[in-house]
Formats: sequence, structure tokens, C-alpha cells
Amino acid sequence: MSNIFDLKNFSYDPSRRQICPLSGGKDSTALAILLKGKIPNLEYVFTDTGAELPEAYEYLDKLEAFLGQPIVRLNSDKTFDFLLQKHGNYLPSARARWCTAEMKIKSYERYIGDDLIESYVGIRADENREGYISDKPNISPRYPFKEYGIDLAGVNQILEDSGIGMPKYYEWRSRSGCYFCFFQRQIEWVGLKERHPDLFEKAKEYEKRGYVGEGRNFTWVNGTSLEEMEARSEEIKQKHEEKMEKARIKACGKKDLSDIFTDVVNDDDGEDACLICDL
Ligand code: SF4
Repeated sequence: MSNIFDLKNFSYDPSRRQICPLSGGKDSTALAILLKGKIPNLEYVFTDTGAELPEAYEYLDKLEAFLGQPIVRLNSDKTFDFLLQKHGNYLPSARARWCTAEMKIKSYERYIGDDLIESYVGIRADENREGYISDKPNISPRYPFKEYGIDLAGVNQILEDSGIGMPKYYEWRSRSGCYFCFFQRQIEWVGLKERHPDLFEKAKEYEKRGYVGEGRNFTWVNGTSLEEMEARSEEIKQKHEEKMEKARIKACGKKDLSDIFTDVVNDDDGEDACLICDL
């Protein structure tokens, strides 16, 4: 008996290169698993900013073993340190998102050049967003989850059935991407401090570089420095735990903890995640 995961009648354009970009997050990983064996010469590509979480690298290694083929790893030709200096020590932010263009998009577009591409995007059927769509006319996006009505439950099932499971960072963070990503909510910064204190300290250092006196004090999180947040970490954890408890009761055992965590974090005020980094 066939089901949606068989992708019945799935077709692709053999005259185009076939690429499945990966973010180190669960959706693009589930898509990679779903497409395994369905497209000859499918290229799996991860664009590494050089500032990814260690758990994301572990997860990619696990996926690579499952796929039985190498994941092409693209590196930005410039380090974050170099780019930060180039941008006058202005930290990237939701309004000045130079990091994504410089560290992700450029290397991906350099990799594909002018070839005609079908690029597979891990936006789920239950999501109302489009993801990264290049304005390069040679890239044609495909959305298999939307085409086949695969939602969050479907993605979770694909990950569970394959044995790959969730990335480990989903216990304390809702999105893939750089360890210092400004889209993180305060509880995720607290999680970074607890799980990766060295990376938290590095993020603090970058923040200090942007400080040049009153009126020009750039912080990763609007209105508060990481040092101030550290001082309030117990309070942040307590408030988050209260929200988790309410969300757990509301979910009535129908969602796992990482999905509840993501719901709670997404309910907090803030900008939406980067459309290329978090898939
Ligand atoms: S993950 Fe965040 S910090 Fe990293 S490139 Fe994407 S938006 Fe920028």
C-alpha cells in the first residue's frame, strides 16, 4: 500500500542539476531522507558559516552515513571576524542581515554558478512561508512537503522511521543556524551559555566590539546585553518553565517536548527566523 512518503508520481527535470540544500535543522534533514534514492545525481549541500553549533555538525555526519553519499560542505571564503570588521563592528541583525548574504547565499550561488537548478526546499505543508528563493533565474525551487501535504507530524515520522531523530540542540534551541544568531530568544541564549559556555563567551566578545560609547551600543538582543541577560538567567529560566508547563498541559501528550519548546519560543515576541538558515 502506498503512502505520501512514497512520493507517488514524483517527477523532476533531468535537464537541470538537482540540489537539496541542508541547514542542519530537522526539516531539510527530513526532506533529504525523503528524497533519498528518488533522484539520480541529487546533490546534498550544506553551507557552513563557520559558526554552526557542534550538534549541527554531528547531525550532518549522522545524515551523511544514512544517505550513503557525501554531503557537499561549502565554506564562506570570509570568516565572521573578517566580515564583522568589514561592517564596522556592526553586529548583524534582523534589519541588517548581512551575515546571511555574506556567509550563506554567496557561497551557495557561487557553487551553482549559471547551471540550471532544481533546488529542493524543506518548507512543510503546515507552514506559511516561502523560504529562500534566489532571484537568480536559473534556480527553480521545489517544495515536496507542500506538494505531498507533509506537515510537522509527517516530518517527525520521517526522522523517527529513519532512526536519525531530532538534532540534539532541539532540547534547548528552536532553530538551526549560527550559535550567535540574533533570532534566538533569551531562553535560547541561556541554553547556549549552559551547553556551550565557550561559544557564549565568544558571542559576548563580539558584542563588546560593537560598543563604542553611549548611543552606539549594539547588542545581539534588542535592549539588553548578554552580560545583563546572564545576570537574569534564573529569572528567564523560571518564566520559560512556567510557559512550558502551560503548553505541556495544552498539548495533552500529543506533542513531544522539542515541539512544545519550539511553540513556546515562537510565541515570544521577536522577528521570524532567517528564511535560508532555518529550514
Ligand atoms: S543563522 Fe542567524 S546569524 Fe547565522 S547567517 Fe543566519 S541569520 Fe545570520
